[in-house]
Amino acid sequence: MNTTFTVTTAQTAQFVDITSQVQKAVADSKVKDGLAVVYVPHTTAGITINENADPTVQRDILTHLDKMIPQSGDYRHAEGNSPAHIKASMMGLSVTVIVAGGDLQLGKWQGIYFCEFDGPRRRQVRVKIIEGSC
Ligand code: ZN
Repeated sequence: MNTTFTVTTAQTAQFVDITSQVQKAVADSKVKDGLAVVYVPHTTAGITINENADPTVQRDILTHLDKMIPQSGDYRHAEGNSPAHIKASMMGLSVTVIVAGGDLQLGKWQGIYFCEFDGPRRRQVRVKIIEGSC
């Protein structure tokens, strides 16, 4: 089953917790055991799994990505958003989560985050639920 949902971001760079939307896609699929592939069809946004208990973790990741990939530098891309492209590739564009008993098998402190690097924008997240237990 395939699902697409929209994420509207408000900042240039921002993490958005999308765990509940992905869990809803799993529930809607009626799949009890399998895999959930969560994919971002963009080149200046990414996706990651990280801590959802302390929001300073997300702030620290964004702050240190900015230090590693500064806004100005020896960039050639004429659109002027090379740092966003680089950060998107560093985060990656998909995550895969095990589904068991109809639930995402995330760790206690884990959440799934959409990573905006060139916002604010309306973005898409695609979820594919693959049924199977082996
Ligand atoms: Zn660009």
